[in-house]
Amino acid sequence: MNDVPKEAIAVVALLQHEGFEAHLVGGCVRDILMGRTPKDWDVTTNATPDDIVRIFPNTFYENDYGTVGVVNDETTDPKLKVIEVTPYRIEGKYSDKRHPDTVTFAKNLSDDLKRRDFTMNAIAYDPLSGNFSDPHKGAKDIENKIIRTVGEARERFAEDALRIMRAVRFSAELDFELDKATEAAIKEFGDTLKDIALERIGDEFTKLIMSPRPRKGIEMFYELGILKHIVPELEEGVNVKQNQAHTYPVFEHIVRTLQAAADKDATLEVRLAALFHDIGKPATKAFNDKNDDWSFHGHDMVGAKIAKRRLRELRYGNDVIETVVKLVRWHMFFSDTEQITHSAVRRLISNVGTENVENILLLRVCDRIGTGRPKEQPYRLRKYKAMIEEVLRDPVSVGMLAVKGADIMEKLEEKPGRRIGWILNALLEIVLDDPTQNTSDILITRAKELATLPEPELKKLGEAAKEAREAIEAEEIGKIRSKYHVE
Ligand code: ATP
Ligand code: MG
Repeated sequence: MNDVPKEAIAVVALLQHEGFEAHLVGGCVRDILMGRTPKDWDVTTNATPDDIVRIFPNTFYENDYGTVGVVNDETTDPKLKVIEVTPYRIEGKYSDKRHPDTVTFAKNLSDDLKRRDFTMNAIAYDPLSGNFSDPHKGAKDIENKIIRTVGEARERFAEDALRIMRAVRFSAELDFELDKATEAAIKEFGDTLKDIALERIGDEFTKLIMSPRPRKGIEMFYELGILKHIVPELEEGVNVKQNQAHTYPVFEHIVRTLQAAADKDATLEVRLAALFHDIGKPATKAFNDKNDDWSFHGHDMVGAKIAKRRLRELRYGNDVIETVVKLVRWHMFFSDTEQITHSAVRRLISNVGTENVENILLLRVCDRIGTGRPKEQPYRLRKYKAMIEEVLRDPVSVGMLAVKGADIMEKLEEKPGRRIGWILNALLEIVLDDPTQNTSDILITRAKELATLPEPELKKLGEAAKEAREAIEAEEIGKIRSKYHVE
């Protein structure tokens, strides 16, 4: 196994050199057996936390379970900056189904592997000798793509219901299936998830959403009967028929949209927006006699509210929540294609923020894919992009000048009127020629010079400048449109 980085080998080697047992364990061993790149490197050892702190120069206590973070300042790989070293332990009773009541250190590796959740996560590997310790036959389960609890499934989920979330999360992440007994126990103990702190659920939920197969994960939640403990409103969309434009019922459309977002490598915010975008549909479904079809009026607003509540419960940060809520709230914008004008685009941008313009377009693309309709007409999508860029660019206008009309009236004792417009336009022409002139001192001096000109001459200058500027504007808009190949 030569894919273990030298930094991780060094930690194991130093512990062994000091007379302790030390192995790599958990996700990193599973990942190297699968040929995946591990997210982090964990070490298990019979050394105590005090021993570990003594042996390594730079360490900190990571949690209440005796884990010590061993810091490596030399490496540039963020995954190797901190290697977690955890003493062998067995866990005490879980009377609250969340945290073990006591943490007891164990004498040997075999006890430590026994407390781990799934066989695939209960393999230890010594990178120096090349030996694996795999008493629960995790390697075989990895080969067969099976998630199986270590020990009796019912007992293990009864101890810690978060393992239910983890089982589904790993299925989505690794494309594994649940072993029969593991699946049956999840169904039996699914309701104990309600005793788990929502923020712990939230961490696993994020990993599931960011996995390559979030659709699989959410569908598993539903089939296992636990979706109601995570996002209950999603379940209400199952088999809810939509209008004729939609091939799929609400729930199926939602998970397909989410999967499209994952396939496009979208951010957490866009994926969550995909998950919540139509969640308000079941609550707003009504029959519309005029169209002789179903309508879901206001589902965007209702969905935004549901998203806010659920994401708060799952303890997402405010900026994530804010972005998702905006995307859900305004996701209908592009549906009324005939109504899209520059001023409508301007309003959209002020509603979602410039930073979310790309996101809402991506959400639209995923929404269409999730509908089973043909892809967005490429022309239309390009047209929206061009319009957005036109709205976002700073127009060439007297607004760019370092002086305003009011400054000129004050400094030059001019009255409001056409003369101010001519002067401003003439100043703009000067600035376009030479941007270094755009300071208020210089422009006031120039304005004073302009004000001494005979009126017809000033008028001619001002109007010519305005025309020249309009030509520049037209040319720039033309450039944007030809960049997107639209009219
Ligand atoms: P990832 O690659 O996503 O980090 P991982 O398997 O490393 O996956 P972690 O949450 O980092 O998962 O946990 C590290 C190891 O600790 C697991 O491989 C497993 O052996 C053990 N573990 C974590 N959570 C539990 C739990 N709730 N019950 C039992 N063992 C657990
Ligand atoms: Mg890990």
